[in-house]
Amino acid sequence: MRRRFILRIRELLQLINHHIPFAKAEDWDNVGLLIGDKDKDITGILTTLDCTLEVVKEAAEKNCNTIIAHHPLIFSGIKRIENTGYGAVMHALIKNDINLIAMHTNLDAYNHGVSAMIADKIGMTNQQILLPGQQEMAKLQVFVPEAHADALKSALSEAGVGQIGDYSDCFFQLEGKGQFKPNEQANPFTGKRNKLEIVDELKLECVFQPERQAAVEEAVHAAHPYEEPAYDIYRYKVKDTFGTGIKGELEGSVVLKDWLPELKAKLGISTLKLIGDIEKEVRTIGIISGAGVSYGQDVKHHDIDLFLTGDIKYHEAHDLLMMGLTTADIEHYSENVMKEGLKELLESFTDELSIQASTVSTDPFTAI
Ligand SMILES: [Zn+2]
Repeated sequence: MRRRFILRIRELLQLINHHIPFAKAEDWDNVGLLIGDKDKDITGILTTLDCTLEVVKEAAEKNCNTIIAHHPLIFSGIKRIENTGYGAVMHALIKNDINLIAMHTNLDAYNHGVSAMIADKIGMTNQQILLPGQQEMAKLQVFVPEAHADALKSALSEAGVGQIGDYSDCFFQLEGKGQFKPNEQANPFTGKRNKLEIVDELKLECVFQPERQAAVEEAVHAAHPYEEPAYDIYRYKVKDTFGTGIKGELEGSVVLKDWLPELKAKLGISTLKLIGDIEKEVRTIGIISGAGVSYGQDVKHHDIDLFLTGDIKYHEAHDLLMMGLTTADIEHYSENVMKEGLKELLESFTDELSIQASTVSTDPFTAI
């Protein structure tokens, strides 16, 4: 059956953003559409760990006008794009009319992201986020005469409040009495100047994303009948479904000496270095894809037998020995499993796209 290629870059970005929000990326990162045109139709997608010249050539040959790379080609402000080095890659993308999207730390933070793709590759079960993040939320509490509650609720819903997971229009309400005495300058909606007024009111409570606060306050003032609506907004934190790394377990215990060669082969890496006792029997594993050694102390509290991450330096390895955290350096390049992993993930979001995983190795090292 022929697939329908109907998605444009703009729609692909929206689809990705719905599941793996770009806003979950670290502040220093650079994700989203880095080079391209949001109005272009997608002819095909090529997933890759890094966007090199060979990968651009592969995309052109495979008629994929969209590359999704894990590592951003452009990180910070660039002042010139000459046709050499990274500039040559940018030239090749533009000349071949190829769009480049980066899904980096937003994909790392996702519970089916790169660490989970490594965990899947080695058959880990009971996968959970290793170090869950925290999400800041805001809550509005507003007091309104009963007859105006519905109008206020719909104005607030339109401003984006009351969204909890897959549910919208979430409110809590409680009946009560409000009282006030308008002064000489007041122009009250109900009641008389200098006379105490007692009104049947509802207290409405609802949650919203903190970045929507201005729109929410505007909606309160626009839809509330009172000259001076009474409301409070407060911020709080909840456990996020996004975070750092993945923990899980193998189906049975393994001895590192026997199992590590198998791990190396499964991840398609050319070196693997163990920090700790090679005779150790392990079952529970924590993974932080890329370079995660700076999280060592936090990982240590999670009662795992083995920590897997990459890019470990000599003195960091000594630190791990001192803290007694058995760790295997699986190279940064172990992230290459994301090429197939991301293809499968995107296919689970839509069947409207033709997606291929790059077959080019972008490992900068040659192991001797
Ligand atoms: Zn990486």
